[in-house]
Amino acid sequence: MGPAGACWRGGRGPCGLRRWLSSCAVAPRVCVVGSGPAGFYTAQHILKHHGEARVDIYEKLPVPFGLVRFGVAPDHPEVKNVTNTFTQTARSERCAYYGNVTVGRDVTVAELQRCYHAVVLSYGAEDHRVLGIPGENLSGVYSAREFVGWYNGLPESQDLKPDLSCETALVLGHGNVALDIARILLSPLQLLRKTDITDGSLAALACSKVKRVWLVGRRGPLQVAFTIKELREMINLPGARAVLDPADFTGLENTIKGAPRPTKRLTELMIKTALEKPVEKAVEAQTAAPREWGLKFQRSPQEVLPSADGRRARGVRLALTRLQGSGDSAKAIPTGDTEELECGLVLSSIGYRSVPLEPAVPFDAQRGVIPNSSGRVEGVPGLYCSGWVKRGATGVIITTMNDSFDTAQSVLEDLQRGVLDVATSREGFGAVESILRSRGVRPVSFSDWEKIDAAEVARGRAAGKPREKIVDPQEMLQLISH
Ligand code: FAD
Repeated sequence: MGPAGACWRGGRGPCGLRRWLSSCAVAPRVCVVGSGPAGFYTAQHILKHHGEARVDIYEKLPVPFGLVRFGVAPDHPEVKNVTNTFTQTARSERCAYYGNVTVGRDVTVAELQRCYHAVVLSYGAEDHRVLGIPGENLSGVYSAREFVGWYNGLPESQDLKPDLSCETALVLGHGNVALDIARILLSPLQLLRKTDITDGSLAALACSKVKRVWLVGRRGPLQVAFTIKELREMINLPGARAVLDPADFTGLENTIKGAPRPTKRLTELMIKTALEKPVEKAVEAQTAAPREWGLKFQRSPQEVLPSADGRRARGVRLALTRLQGSGDSAKAIPTGDTEELECGLVLSSIGYRSVPLEPAVPFDAQRGVIPNSSGRVEGVPGLYCSGWVKRGATGVIITTMNDSFDTAQSVLEDLQRGVLDVATSREGFGAVESILRSRGVRPVSFSDWEKIDAAEVARGRAAGKPREKIVDPQEMLQLISH
């Protein structure tokens, strides 16, 4: 039994439910908002377990796949293979994709609810957490979201043009996104050239003067959020050496004896890198390395310091911290001491954040999520949510898959129990299309996307890359208009 069966809830078995659902007179119409992993996995599960349901996916950009296209690092092509499964779902005759439709602007959730039996909000996290410190808005300070979007071709980040003329960059955060950014900044150009990184960012990185990246975290080595694969990639990065302070790791070997295996292995790798003397040949290679990176622990940003003219970042003042408690729940408490670190580039990688869609849709501003119970939006029957907007902006694609299956299961159960009224048919896209036409919106179909995809792959092939992303939505629309 696949993962769908594993998360089965409710009294009737999957086969019984499938039989029952197939006997319904009116085919349920479900609409999903957002075409990232959450949207596609929700659609996939509903289509697989309901033989009649039809699912329409609405996406604000012309192109699908959310953060798989605009977040996942260009040098991690294997992660992007999930798009093959999403493509299969989109090609199902009971599924349709409508890109270039911003829900909340081009069509409201209330309008969608009138056209569909159920609406699932899977619109991800469109914002970032702010540092909330003086100097945050100085030039040279960027959020990870903007920076990642810039090198990955996110249309709204194409004007970023980050200033890479300094030697030292500081990344605030100890998660995988922070490591992705450090790796992209320090990777040899010949490695990046073979990826789907945009031409524009490749040209900027070719002129980059950045040769040192500090990754700064408020807590200690036992609290880092990155995983061993990403750490190993940094340690093995050609032309870059790791600078870890042995003092940060002394005594940790004993502390991790009873720790969960992933924490133990990750910490052991950090300890090995910090404490072990490299063999002679490696020493030569290391000292010759033109670039370096390091992890700085127990430091919390207090202020981004301005240059003499007050316009640019020239460094960051960090408050030193001590840990109160242990493990994941350890808190960083300022000791009262501070330290200044010089850098011309500050990248804040402290998390993405969802935004409210419309006043009519409940939103917990504190947690940055839509309040829900197993994906059922609180107080709004027929409205559901999945993915980062459901549980907050954490977790990898597999985590998002599981919680999307959970939401899809809630939809199926509500269909079965009659919570969703399918006695009357709903028009689905037929009705939405006229709303969109009246507002001058031209939806992009999945076969339109496949034309854009083919054009990108062809442009990339010429340059030896898997694809050259088109970064201007207007150009995408022109490409499919004839
Ligand atoms: P998203 O992927 O953000 O999808 C949301 C979609 O909704 C987007 O396409 C967006 O355009 C659309 N949308 C937004 N607003 C509207 C609207 N109003 N109307 C219509 N559509 C809208 N996971 C891994 O497993 N491996 C990795 O290597 C990895 N790398 C990552 C790198 C970065 C930089 C980040 C940020 C995350 C990474 N992840 C990785 C995590 C993974 O990307 C997420 O778990 C997953 O994308 C969350 O899915 P989602 O569908 O909730 O959100």
